[in-house]
Amino acid sequence: MQAEAGTLFVVAAPSGAGKSTLVNALLEREPAISLSVSHTTRLPRPGEQYGRHYYFVERAEFEREVADGIFLEHAEVHGNLYGTSRRTVQELLGQGRDVLLEIDWQGARQIRAAKPDCVSVFILPPSRAELERRLRGRGSDAPEVIERRLHNSREEIAHAHEFDYIIVNDRFEDALADLQAIVRAVRQRSALQWRRHETLIAELLAP
Ligand code: 5GP
Repeated sequence: MQAEAGTLFVVAAPSGAGKSTLVNALLEREPAISLSVSHTTRLPRPGEQYGRHYYFVERAEFEREVADGIFLEHAEVHGNLYGTSRRTVQELLGQGRDVLLEIDWQGARQIRAAKPDCVSVFILPPSRAELERRLRGRGSDAPEVIERRLHNSREEIAHAHEFDYIIVNDRFEDALADLQAIVRAVRQRSALQWRRHETLIAELLAP
C-alpha cells in the first residue's frame, strides 16, 4: 500500500455560504493543495468547463461508475448525483499533496468513515437573510432551483457539528484567514512533521 503523506481536507456548506469563493482564494494562497474535481449528473452552469469544475456525466454513466466502485464517496444533492474519484484522491495523497474536497455533509460522513485522518470544515453564512441574498444574487440558477437550495440548507446546516471546525463567513477576509489558519496548523501536526523531517530529526538526535 502506498504511504499517504498528504492531508485530506473536506469543506462543506449550504449553497450560498460562499464556500467556492473561499476555497478558490485558499487555493491561490496555498498552491500545494489540489482540489478534487467531482463527477456530477448536474447540467453545467454557464461558464463551467468539463474537467475543470466537474466531470459532467449522464445518470446512467454515473450509476455504472458507482457499481464499478470508482467513488470514494457519492451522494444525491439537490436532485443530482455527485461523487469523488477514489483514484484521483489516492494518487494525489500518495504524491504527498494535500487534497481538498468540496462536498456535502453526506459525502463528508462517508469520507470520515473511509479516511478518519481527514480534516473537515463547515462554512456557515452569517444569517439566513444573507444566505438568501447570496443565493439569489448568483443569477445562474432558476428560481425553483434556488428555492430547493434554500430549503435544503437547513438539512446541511443541521450537520455542521459533525465537522472538526466551523467557520462563519461574515467578513470574507476573516473567514479566509481562519480557513488558512486551519490548513497551516494541520500541516504542523507532530505525526506529520515527524515523518516529513526524518532527516532533520535523525541529525538532531545523533550522538
Ligand atoms: P453545485 O451543484 O452548486 O456545484 O453543488 C451542490 C452541492 O453538491 C454542494 O454542496 C457541493 O459541495 C456538493 N458536491 C459537489 N461535489 C460533490 C461530491 O463529489 N460529492 C458530494 N457528496 N457532494 C458534492
